[in-house]
Amino acid sequence: MEYENDYQQYSNSKYECLLFDVDDTLYPYSSGLSLQCTKNITEYMIEKLKIEESKVPEMCVQLYKDYGTTMSGLRAIGYDFDYDDYHSYVHGRLPYEEKLRPDPVLRNLLHSLPIRKVIFSNANDAHVATVLRILGIEDCFERIVTFESLNPTHESNVSDGRENQESNVGSGMDSDAGADPPLPKSPVICKPFENAFEQAFKIADINPKKTLFFDDSLRNLQTAKCMNLHTVLIGSSHRTTGVDYALESIHNIREALPELWEELAKAESPYSGQAAIETTVRA
Ligand SMILES: [Mg+2]
Repeated sequence: MEYENDYQQYSNSKYECLLFDVDDTLYPYSSGLSLQCTKNITEYMIEKLKIEESKVPEMCVQLYKDYGTTMSGLRAIGYDFDYDDYHSYVHGRLPYEEKLRPDPVLRNLLHSLPIRKVIFSNANDAHVATVLRILGIEDCFERIVTFESLNPTHESNVSDGRENQESNVGSGMDSDAGADPPLPKSPVICKPFENAFEQAFKIADINPKKTLFFDDSLRNLQTAKCMNLHTVLIGSSHRTTGVDYALESIHNIREALPELWEELAKAESPYSGQAAIETTVRA
């Protein structure tokens, strides 16, 4: 992309990278896609893992809370299943075309920012690719970090419970979890755990101190803050601990973070004039 050539010119900028979650961040929760995803997860637990139906909703919520994703939690408590099978059941059956639309506003916002952009999602490659394609923003990102990037040695159904020394545990993420007994470990690497962030930084060559991280999950942002990232909560305008900026919608980036464009306007580059005009037109 022509934009990539511009990145180096702004290396003295406050931000060198914009890191984005996908679900409920690049499109709103109100789309209903995540709700459908949760329904598919509960169906998978009932149909494929034969978990008693009455226990599933509460279990689903608890595992998500403890482990970052329900899938990670299911693995931690002893369920063994093929990751691809899980993803195709949970994501592969989503009514993407019905729930999502192209988002030219977001596309223009992303393209007008001369800062490298990276995706960091707990979801699988196929899901992320489909979402980005339907939103019409698949060419806006330099790198895409997904479930497969974070779990490269776990593509098949392999588990002896010891293959990953850096396994995630659910305790310690919530302030009220201190008195709980230790939870079993999961072999799955995912947000909000620090090893997922460390891996993403390595894969995408990210300097967290110069990166702005967008996510709808407060827990993900709180880990991110501990990892020295600058943080933007999406889906709420309430700032809280660990949140530097809070936006109802990703569409509000320009209003909340005008400095991202000001850097561009100030820069002495052949592109600055063009971008300044663009900014004025949209204001
Ligand atoms: Mg999300």
